[in-house]
Amino acid sequence: MAHPITAARGTRDLLPEDAPAWNHVEAVARDLSSRYGFERIEIPLFERVELFARGLGESSDAVEKEMFRVSGAKGSDEEAAPWALRPEPTAGIVRAFIEHGMHVRPGPLRLALIGPMFRYDRPQAGRYRQFSQWDVEVIGDTGPAVDAELIEMAHRFYAEVGLTDVVARLNSIGDAECRPRYRDALIAYFGTHEARLSEDSRRRLRVNPLRVLDDKELPADLANDAPRGTDHLCDACREHFDRVQSLLDGLGVRYELDHRLVRGLDYYTRTAFEFYVAGREGQQQALGGGGRYDGLVELLGGLPTPGIGFGLGLDRTVLAMQEQDVMLPARAPLVAVLGVGDDHARRLQVATTLRSAGIAVRPDGSARKLGKQLESAAKAGARWAVIVSDVESVALKDLVSGDQRDVVPIDEVPRAVSE
Ligand code: AMP
Repeated sequence: MAHPITAARGTRDLLPEDAPAWNHVEAVARDLSSRYGFERIEIPLFERVELFARGLGESSDAVEKEMFRVSGAKGSDEEAAPWALRPEPTAGIVRAFIEHGMHVRPGPLRLALIGPMFRYDRPQAGRYRQFSQWDVEVIGDTGPAVDAELIEMAHRFYAEVGLTDVVARLNSIGDAECRPRYRDALIAYFGTHEARLSEDSRRRLRVNPLRVLDDKELPADLANDAPRGTDHLCDACREHFDRVQSLLDGLGVRYELDHRLVRGLDYYTRTAFEFYVAGREGQQQALGGGGRYDGLVELLGGLPTPGIGFGLGLDRTVLAMQEQDVMLPARAPLVAVLGVGDDHARRLQVATTLRSAGIAVRPDGSARKLGKQLESAAKAGARWAVIVSDVESVALKDLVSGDQRDVVPIDEVPRAVSE
């Protein structure tokens, strides 16, 4: 026997038993996207490495350590092609915005997608090499109202999928005017404590000092006493951040300020936020995050245009739902269509009639004894069994109570199984 081939490390299969939770999460995301006025966008799963290097920053983990590279066919000119699977969708969406001249459309644009992202990281619980995100982007809106709206939208998502105790963490990391001062303050502060920094942080200190703050190995006292972004904001950023908070207060959204929340990517400005189950710490625990990126469109070659978005990790959302034993909405009752002997034409006709009436149907294609068919219908999760007999009517068995009505006109079945 040939040896079985297993899935690639850090990837997972979605099996039928996982489907109800994923269907629910995706349905809530799609519903919220339309209730908040977002339109669907799809972009390729892979893009030029240069897009991510420029957009996310050479020193971001996503580019420096986790880029999942793709090459062309062996022997082709593109064998060593500079592509990578998308680690996040914002850079690609902004590329599409610029490439299609979308700035001439009536804005601000509200764009949403659900799909897989790829990061070549060391896999562990809640961290995969392929994972899914629900992502929304608003391009062309300076905020601050939209900042609060998106945070409220994500907050509502967690409530509607059934999670409790999800808290938003919030920070402002300033803009091109005030961030340089904050960077200098961080370099000066951490520079005097360099010996206590991890190797990663020492390397990052001069390239991207904000990232030192979200280093898991940073000693707590050093982190606590570090200069805070919110103490270094220019007047415009200060005012923006105050307003975001008062708007969130007005909406009743629970949030905590977190001065160590800097997000991993270079393109963020001003408002940055993440979502956690209350009490959970650390990067691997973040359910989702986002922020404002007012410089990104210009950085990628477009006209100066503000933007803000979030990416909520669906895998971790489903894991948190399992931990909290979230009840999933009941699915539509399934009806099994059974019969005797080789009356398959009749079974298929009845199945087709019921499906036309909107009923979910699973016909039994076997010639097994009726008892066996009933048994496997119940095992397959069917709620009702329709047993075909003559042309006009069927027998209808409730597979939960065991009650059976022997003569039910076909036309009456849809109503009977929907009650
Ligand atoms: P980030 O842009 O890194 O903040 O990612 C946004 C969200 O995507 C995170 O909060 C996670 O829920 C999810 N996520 C990021 N990386 C991974 C991963 N390797 N595996 C599973 N989920 C991830």
